[in-house]
Amino acid sequence: MGVSEQHIIIVGGGMTGGLLAVLLAAEGLRVTVLDGAPAPVMPEGAAQLRVSTLTEASYWLLRNSGVWDCLNLSRVQPYDAMQVWDQDGTGEVSFNAVDAGVDSLGWLLENGHLTAALYDRAASLPSLEWRCGVSVEGARREGQRWRVQCGGDVLEADLLVGADGARSRVREWAGISGGPRDTGHHALVATITTAQPHGGCARQVFMESGPLALLPLFSLASPGDQRQCSIVWSGWPQRIAELNAAEPGLFAAHLQAAVGDALGEVSLLGERAVFPVQERHASSYVATGLALIGDAAHVIHPLAGQGVNLGLLDAAVLAEEVAAAMKAGRPCADPHALSRYQRRRRGENLVMQNAMRGFQQLFEQRAMPLRWLRNTGMRWVNQAGPVKRFFIGQALGRGADLPRQAQPPRQRMR
Ligand SMILES: Cc1cc2nc3c(=O)[nH]c(=O)nc-3n(C[C@H](O)[C@H](O)[C@H](O)COP(=O)(O)OP(=O)(O)OC[C@H]3O[C@@H](n4cnc5c(N)ncnc54)[C@H](O)[C@@H]3O)c2cc1C
Repeated sequence: MGVSEQHIIIVGGGMTGGLLAVLLAAEGLRVTVLDGAPAPVMPEGAAQLRVSTLTEASYWLLRNSGVWDCLNLSRVQPYDAMQVWDQDGTGEVSFNAVDAGVDSLGWLLENGHLTAALYDRAASLPSLEWRCGVSVEGARREGQRWRVQCGGDVLEADLLVGADGARSRVREWAGISGGPRDTGHHALVATITTAQPHGGCARQVFMESGPLALLPLFSLASPGDQRQCSIVWSGWPQRIAELNAAEPGLFAAHLQAAVGDALGEVSLLGERAVFPVQERHASSYVATGLALIGDAAHVIHPLAGQGVNLGLLDAAVLAEEVAAAMKAGRPCADPHALSRYQRRRRGENLVMQNAMRGFQQLFEQRAMPLRWLRNTGMRWVNQAGPVKRFFIGQALGRGADLPRQAQPPRQRMR
């Protein structure tokens, strides 16, 4: 079979599967996305509850792939400052875009908005078919291909990609193990209003019971108003259940006690939702003719807002390796390309997962000497130039081995 006839099936059209499809199809490869959910639609009205912060690397991926142009920019909130502190009040790390030499440190947008933009971009790529409302029921290897079963149909793939989230069935069908490990945390998400403007600053307070992130949110009712934030409050399940059940006034009082007067008086706007926080890491990202990306490959604690950013980089590295193999006349499921993908991504994702686990454990410490050490360490990081620059680099998603598409055009030309 000629390389141009090869077929790649991606199970899962979420943020990571959607980006992979766009990147591969932009190279002219034949791609089918299968997703059980209905077709994504551009959100209108109030901000959706599920949002993500995107790093600089993710921003360039979306810009370079043409997805950024499909976003409604009035629903994208850039932020140019970050402030992290310990509730004991003695440790703090803060930096801004000027320190980092960039215009923005990150962007916040709704998950559903990004998926809709990917879906719109996909519509302009002739070699890409995106089927919605189609649940994949099984997949097995037969000869040189994967046979994928969905809605009474059987499709054949030369390369099958699992982008089907934390409970990946593709991972299961490939016989790859993947956790879970309970972190002992649940996460509550909500939208709040604040008396003081957020000032484009992403804030995070670490408490013994878990971290609370206050992320600047756009305001559609009065653009530029800056008095809405999206929060992610992680902690022990019983504490989070109490917060979820508390009537709005009491919830606001708990929130106020946690954040102090950083944003003036705070109040709850609309619904809350709670998610168990589990960690997973697939024992392998690849098998014969198969690769896993995004949450199907790894799930990390959301405390630093890195999960989807890692998944988007998986998509970009896999696309880069597959395209390079095909340009060299090799098949899309070339085993060397797949193992290069795994080598480039698995170590980096493991380091990030372990760092998140370390942060969680560090801030749960009750012993006074450890708390003192931690807070002194935070103050030291805040003052020590090279170490602080390292942290800023991590926040921007500047890994050692960035795929071409995750870099600004100036660097890509080198
Ligand atoms: C509270 C919370 C806050 C977070 N905040 C951030 C943040 O600020 N920044 C960040 O980077 N990350 C964040 N994350 C992590 C981020 O949400 C995930 O990493 C990301 O959603 C994973 O995307 P994905 O495309 O890999 O998987 P998913 O979003 O789970 O998408 C999987 C897709 O596969 C489809 N699917 C599944 N099974 C099948 C099947 N059998 N057949 C067909 N289709 C199927 C589903 O319909 C879905 O569309 C957060 C997570 C949580 C819990």
